[in-house]
Amino acid sequence: MLIVQKYGGTSVGTVERIRAVAERVAETRKKGIDVAVIVSAMSGETDKLLSLASQISVNPEGREMDLLLSSGERISAALTAMAIQELGFPSVSFTGRQVGIITDESHTRAKIERITGEQVKAAVKKGIVPVIAGFQGITENSEVTTLGRGGSDLSAVAIAAALKADLCEIYTDVDGVYTTDPNVVPEAKKLDKISYEEMLELASLGAKVLQARSVEFAKKYGVPVVVRSSFNNNPGTLVVKEDKDMEQVVVSGVAYDKNQAKITVVAVRDMPGIAAKLFSAVAGANIIVDMIVQNVSSDGKGTDISFTVPKTDSRRALQITKGIAAELGSKDILLREDIAKVSIVGVGMRTHSGVASTMFGAMAKHNINILMISTSEIKVSCIIESKYTELTVRILHDAFELGQDKKGHAGTKKKAVRSK
Ligand code: ASP
Ligand code: MG
Repeated sequence: MLIVQKYGGTSVGTVERIRAVAERVAETRKKGIDVAVIVSAMSGETDKLLSLASQISVNPEGREMDLLLSSGERISAALTAMAIQELGFPSVSFTGRQVGIITDESHTRAKIERITGEQVKAAVKKGIVPVIAGFQGITENSEVTTLGRGGSDLSAVAIAAALKADLCEIYTDVDGVYTTDPNVVPEAKKLDKISYEEMLELASLGAKVLQARSVEFAKKYGVPVVVRSSFNNNPGTLVVKEDKDMEQVVVSGVAYDKNQAKITVVAVRDMPGIAAKLFSAVAGANIIVDMIVQNVSSDGKGTDISFTVPKTDSRRALQITKGIAAELGSKDILLREDIAKVSIVGVGMRTHSGVASTMFGAMAKHNINILMISTSEIKVSCIIESKYTELTVRILHDAFELGQDKKGHAGTKKKAVRSK
């Protein structure tokens, strides 16, 4: 049996924590299980490197950024290998280059293309624990790349797939995936199990336990993932393929995202090609558009188009949109940054009706105004004023009875949904 164990920044945040990681690896080895370890940079390290760079240049070259950022994970990998050796277990640290994590050339957000992994496979075969620096790879031309923030989760899942590991454990500082943020709703329950698809929605909706791209990768290659804490021995949350049980649960979780802004292009010309022009300009700047609503404008002369982007990109998106306003025939572009997105997620929505109406009803009862709505097969999202975010999360967690623990796990059973 082979387990890939990934340790996040807080899990390797200090020398004591690194020793604790080594202990856990040693315990696993003692059970006769092979282990490959992936580490993040020590907590705060990547931010520190980013801040150093920003003090020197407002727009540093991606190539230099990647060489800089990849150093954080090298440090924790080498230290962790030393700590494992100190406990009497053979261990070797590797950089992304040494592991053969080949990526494309998009610096600071590279995509993994393939993993050769020969050195790692050989180490595991010999009973050596490889400790791999996460978050990094190398292009065909030997340029160092990084995989985007939180990218060591992706490193771990990709290596688990390459090694055909039985399990990929993601160690962090929380016990697993919760029905919602326990800081907002203290009664939030830890989920024993969740499907890739639900996890993907929750991850991209701002539940920060797992990087969204790593979940996509795990789903694609069928890598079973466990999210658990390195601070205790609790079992964590298993992220796997959807099964019959999961469908019984209509809503699995409530997520929120405050990194949202809304841009409204007022009264654009009502003719073909306008949306194409607008969104290709925004996409051209690598800005991800989430919700889009187009409606009839107030004066009846054209149509308003509203869309949401991450707040961190909103100024750029505004500039771009203003730049093409004349072409779109619009005289006014509006930006709203005081908004947030609250979403409910559950694979059971495919087979149960009335979920959206329960959500809207609960919000209406508390006078929460909905600014935009979007739905997918397993998700309903509402844009609201950001000052109501926490309140809305609590209301929805309550409405779907996620905090009540009847059979040892949370989740709304069929009866809780009032179908209309
Ligand atoms: N150290 C990188 C970051 O902070 C990658 C990771 O931790 O997953 O984003
Ligand atoms: Mg992380």
